[in-house]
Amino acid sequence: MKFEGDLLQLAAKAERDIKQIFQRIEEIQEYNEQKVLEAFIRHRVSESHFMPTTGYGYGDRGREVLDAVFSEIFKTEDALVRHQFASGTHALATALFGILRPKDQMVCITGAPYDTMEEVIGLRGEGQGSLKDFGVCYKQLSLLADKSVDMLRIPDAVKHAKVIYIQRSGGYTQRPAITMEKMKKIIDICKKSAPKAAVVVDNCYGEFTQKQEPSEVGADLIVGSLIKNPGGGIAPSGGYIAGKRDLVMLCANRFTAPGVGKEVGSSLNQNRSLFMGLFFAPGVTAAAMKTSVFALRLFSLLGYKVSPQFDEIKSDIISAICLESEEKLKAFCAGLQAASPIDSFVTPQPWAMPGYDCPVIMADGAFTAGASIEISADAPLQPPYTVWLQGGLTYYTGKMGVLSAAQRLKNSEDKN
Ligand SMILES: *Cc1c(COP(=O)(O)O)cnc(C)c1O
Repeated sequence: MKFEGDLLQLAAKAERDIKQIFQRIEEIQEYNEQKVLEAFIRHRVSESHFMPTTGYGYGDRGREVLDAVFSEIFKTEDALVRHQFASGTHALATALFGILRPKDQMVCITGAPYDTMEEVIGLRGEGQGSLKDFGVCYKQLSLLADKSVDMLRIPDAVKHAKVIYIQRSGGYTQRPAITMEKMKKIIDICKKSAPKAAVVVDNCYGEFTQKQEPSEVGADLIVGSLIKNPGGGIAPSGGYIAGKRDLVMLCANRFTAPGVGKEVGSSLNQNRSLFMGLFFAPGVTAAAMKTSVFALRLFSLLGYKVSPQFDEIKSDIISAICLESEEKLKAFCAGLQAASPIDSFVTPQPWAMPGYDCPVIMADGAFTAGASIEISADAPLQPPYTVWLQGGLTYYTGKMGVLSAAQRLKNSEDKN
């Protein structure tokens, strides 16, 4: 791979600028790896837990211990960790349908939820089988002009809520992820205003980016995808729901069927991958965070608007880079794809993805299809042509991807 001298010099400057941030990330990594290892030890994870079950999967010890290890790490009463979750959206939908009943109210207090959740809630699309279709009411508290949560209006907004929904990561918006310090303040207000409501946090992209998880600062339920942070790049699919025992039970009943709940669902041959992925997750998340910080610094040095700033406290692995034109967006994605381990030879094209309301372009040369803990980028094809970059199984391969994207971008500029 060939990079111009100018670009390499700028990259070297970027790496000097981010040294201290890397130290901070490594400290979080060490803390979280210790947390994970201790949970494995306490629950006596053993080779026998990797044995596959088939059929109903009654008494699948590996599945049960995996749930226990997740709850230990997230400090929850219970967890439902399953490779059968098709995606993060599926896990989130399971949680919401598990808890909410007709006429109940769900209030999202972090502005518009992640795109795919719009159809789950019934804000967009045919709405067949959506929460709205089942008679669940939905309310949303807008963010303030500076994209922060409107703390003062929380008490009034949530007073009739059954579920208070918080999205930790910014998703396809340019708001920064909510740090656990801020999350605690937000949840404290929610608990005071609506003590009976369940606080559900969409934790996608957030796991292991800080020392605490939302469940440690008051969330009743947290939900995420295993092809993001907690799968460590090894889990081939799946998701998790963790939190209060009674809520997890409701989710399990929705996930399988009332009466059988958590007791069925054969692990087939997935337990080993899910345990191993969890074991690697804090390290892989740290690599993804480093890749993100490098990209944020490099692209701001190149003169692009980025979000968050490289030295902000991060609570997810995403970076947004505003590329300002469709051509640059395509060049960025092509460059990133060209430095991916899988399918490096293909050129990403925009397409209409299910769950999204405009064409999306993606660079995703991953071992696991669509896994965004691996170096990947996606962008809706609309002004201001912001690309969302995430992942990186290792820092140096992530850095190569970022450099390749930057080089391709420079080449496209030089052509014009
Ligand atoms: C990824 C993600 C989801 C779920 O998306 P899937 O593609 O279905 O896994 C939900 N919310 C946020 C913030 C996400 O990043």
